[in-house]
Amino acid sequence: MHLDPAMEKLIVKAHFHTAHRQPGYPGHCQHVHGHTWRAKVTLSCEEFPRDELDMSVDFGEIKQLVRFLDHKIIVTKDDKTFLDPKVFDQEGVFVVEGRGPSVENVARYICNKVVDLLKTKYPARGITYDLEVKLQETDNNIFIIGKSVTV
Ligand SMILES: [Zn+2]
Repeated sequence: MHLDPAMEKLIVKAHFHTAHRQPGYPGHCQHVHGHTWRAKVTLSCEEFPRDELDMSVDFGEIKQLVRFLDHKIIVTKDDKTFLDPKVFDQEGVFVVEGRGPSVENVARYICNKVVDLLKTKYPARGITYDLEVKLQETDNNIFIIGKSVTV
């Protein structure tokens, strides 16, 4: 008897409080302001690998990746003001890759960190995962990035 492959899905939600600014943006977003960003990480595959406790990926570990950004100001390497350790404690500054600390770039960062976590926890299994990171800046402003990755 042939059974259709199952589909397993894991969803983790976490939020974080941050500040950022969009230098060069022609509007009030060029000034430092804060958001409570809500992240929803959805990871699915045919069947997750399991650890010795039959757990796949620890919800807490994904949550940690997101919560790492909590209470930080998010900047890019070009925003020298916040990168001066004499002025700002660098522990509270996070440098995201890209030309601006946009929701797009932060979502990409989270996405890449989840892939790194899978590579560390279950390397070279040949499993294809579908990953979606939904990052909500406000009730009305949402960015979603999706990625299919084989690890
Ligand atoms: Zn903003």
